[in-house]
Amino acid sequence: MYILGTKEEVNSNLQILRNNNKTIGLVPTMGALHQGHLELVKIAKQYSDIVVVSIFVNPTQFNNQEDFEKYPKTLDKDLEILNNSEVNYLFLPDTEDIYPSKPLLSIDFGHLDKILEGSFRPGHFNGVGIVVSKLLNIVKPHIAYFGQKDLQQVAIIKRLVQDLSFDVQINVVPTVREEDGMALSSRNLRLDPESRKAARIISKALFFAKSELLLGRPWLSIRKMVNQMFESEPIAKLEYFELITSDTFYVLESIGEEKSVSICAAAYFSDVRLIDNVSIFD
Ligand code: AMP
Repeated sequence: MYILGTKEEVNSNLQILRNNNKTIGLVPTMGALHQGHLELVKIAKQYSDIVVVSIFVNPTQFNNQEDFEKYPKTLDKDLEILNNSEVNYLFLPDTEDIYPSKPLLSIDFGHLDKILEGSFRPGHFNGVGIVVSKLLNIVKPHIAYFGQKDLQQVAIIKRLVQDLSFDVQINVVPTVREEDGMALSSRNLRLDPESRKAARIISKALFFAKSELLLGRPWLSIRKMVNQMFESEPIAKLEYFELITSDTFYVLESIGEEKSVSICAAAYFSDVRLIDNVSIFD
């Protein structure tokens, strides 16, 4: 695996490959790599000749400075993991390379960034939209891979690509989970053992709600039961638990005639905020 530190290095290495009709797949990450990231790499390798992973902890998508400062950084381990994977290039830019100046541009995603993650993390999707645009412009991949784990991010990025006519295909990879159902996340590294145990409640509540919904129980009654589940777990603080349309993120009170519906949740365990979601008809 080759490490590329600057836009210029990316350009000089990848242009030759593009000219030789190689398909380039990009997997953007913020590091602290785990099996979820590696699943994106694995799928990328199936559909692309060349796999580029980027590691950049993007300051502009953190609405909370403490969350940014405490974001896990495990570069040595990440390099070891990537060296043992099928990744061809790691793009590891520094902040000045991505942000030579503070962007004046800000992106308004309309309704999509006003609810759930957008409303609890103001400015987050603006930062995501800007950094993903930059990475797409620098790497110029044919396909970019994102995890279903961050479902609202997927909706935002698909809209960004559509509205700005980026010449890239967006592929979405299903969420990789621990044996107890908990979604893998870099932030899990910050959980103490007690919080880690308590955090199982997110996926447990999501899968419980999904099965009750499919059995025909009304959503409002399910949500009441989920609230009670969370109330009985003192470490957990539920932020939201919503039934939504998976692509457009409209909040629903029943499945109705919708074909693509998900439940999204966010909760704090001590000072660590986790998100997860399940799709209802997969
Ligand atoms: P992050 O490093 O957290 O920004 O994540 C980088 C990419 O990996 C994003 O597209 C995430 O949605 C994806 N990802 C994170 N966790 C998982 C997981 N457990 N399963 C699948 N994809 C994931």
